[in-house]
Amino acid sequence: MLRVAEQYATTDTGRQRRANEDSLLARSPLFVVADGMGGAQAGEVASKIAVEVFEQGLGDTAAPETDLAARAGSANARIHELSHSNAEQAGMGTTLTAVYVAPAEVAIVHVGDSRAYRLRDGELTRLTDDHSLVDELLRQGKITPEEAVDHPQRSVITRALGPEPAVEVDTRSYATRAGDVYLLCSDGLTTMISEERVSEILSTHPRMRDAGEALIAAANEAGGRDNITVVLFRLEDTSAPGEPAPSSPVTPDPRTEEQSALPDPPPPAPPPQAPPSPPPVRARSPRRPDEAGERGRARKGRLARRAVPAVITLVVLGLLAAGAYLALGSVYFIGTNGRGLVTLYRGVPYQLPGGIELYSSDYVTGVSASTLSPARRRTLLDHSLRSEGDASSLLHSLELGELGE
Ligand code: MN
Repeated sequence: MLRVAEQYATTDTGRQRRANEDSLLARSPLFVVADGMGGAQAGEVASKIAVEVFEQGLGDTAAPETDLAARAGSANARIHELSHSNAEQAGMGTTLTAVYVAPAEVAIVHVGDSRAYRLRDGELTRLTDDHSLVDELLRQGKITPEEAVDHPQRSVITRALGPEPAVEVDTRSYATRAGDVYLLCSDGLTTMISEERVSEILSTHPRMRDAGEALIAAANEAGGRDNITVVLFRLEDTSAPGEPAPSSPVTPDPRTEEQSALPDPPPPAPPPQAPPSPPPVRARSPRRPDEAGERGRARKGRLARRAVPAVITLVVLGLLAAGAYLALGSVYFIGTNGRGLVTLYRGVPYQLPGGIELYSSDYVTGVSASTLSPARRRTLLDHSLRSEGDASSLLHSLELGELGE
């Protein structure tokens, strides 16, 4: 079964706009980008409403396309209604591109000129059609693709949530594959840099965070004329729970792997810290870390008494850490990452002298620990060791909002 192994989401005002009217949601398995329009902050209101209707997730839906389309319909109705009740917000609207990751496919609902892309085997494919004037002119053969690139009315869209009482939305599903990278973005990215450049950046930055930051930087370097929103996630196969992620090119750093631009107050619970805790030496079974720790202390004590040079001690510790890392591949604990997001870690919450971590970030939720009640925070983020199944189902419930307050 495929699931989201790594994600990164952020939005940037760009270099020319004063406000950011884009909104996003990155709450796996649901990802949304909305780009609002309208005067006096109305665009911001519209895009926020579009994202809000997805905040509670879809549950275990059997018909994701239908459910996504229904949410889009209710967002349209809410925005339309509000635009009539308030003169300042008359005519406001928003684009919407929402993706739901189901077990074997991604379902997409889409209106406007935000986009969804997939990078697979180094090839970038656009999964959505723009509902824009330029795109219609292109389809009618009235302009060439070259003319479209710099067309003065590039940002005029022909369909949006809000302006009309009802809206036609595109829905589609695509079969997924391990290693697929998905990008949702607002036009502030794609009007600033070419798809070739997007493809190149995604291909050369395997970590989602690096790719996202590089995309934003490239759009800003090209002028940053509009708000830029980027939501990225990568799917991996999780059917072999003891195996490391198949195409993870580097060991992720749990403190920097994921970032969300959602309101994210300072982390209330620190990431797994480095207690001066020794390695679980020869810990074949990682289920009893305390005992393993005892052995570790004893071993280290012996080494010290024999006055083995520090360098050799470090080498030994390094080898032990490597062994422990393999042995620890099947235990998990829940903590928070550097940005306060509830995170699933593989391994045990200890760090060896020299900064060698016995854990790695396995999955970052979109849930900020600060949204949990203190009691829930204590029981969930207590770093107790769990099986992958237990930990995953806990986090799944958390993401569905069942464990909230
Ligand atoms: Mn825009």
